[in-house]
Amino acid sequence: MLEEFYGEIIMDHYRRPRNKGKVDPSDITAHDSNPLCGDEIDVTARVSNGKIAELKFDGRGCAICTASASIMTQKLLGKTLPEANQFIDGFLNMMRGETPFGGKEMGDLKALEGVLKFPVRVKCATLAWNTARQGLQQRNGK
Ligand code: ZN
Repeated sequence: MLEEFYGEIIMDHYRRPRNKGKVDPSDITAHDSNPLCGDEIDVTARVSNGKIAELKFDGRGCAICTASASIMTQKLLGKTLPEANQFIDGFLNMMRGETPFGGKEMGDLKALEGVLKFPVRVKCATLAWNTARQGLQQRNGK
């Protein structure tokens, strides 16, 4: 039943989240929550040569929150910090229903676009991305 609702990709990432845990030691740490749903997310990352060398998420969240965090770690790994920021902005714009987020990098993100049909869940889908952006901004400020 949940499969029909959210789709296979989201359920797969929810059941087998990628890069779950904590990077230690880390250069980037951020925490945020979505009280509307009870989602809690920690993002930790290690930066090497200006690129995101390791990136993990931890916490507890609903299916959409967890799947989105899992997909995020896969998308941002290996990117430079400006690339990662740009990618996050692109995703958040898509989730505001502004610009479609096309291109070859779309992949599993297409599944999350379906969440737009359920406005109350958009915050679940964007939580990990907003948390990662906070972490990146804090680091940029150092
Ligand atoms: Zn949620």
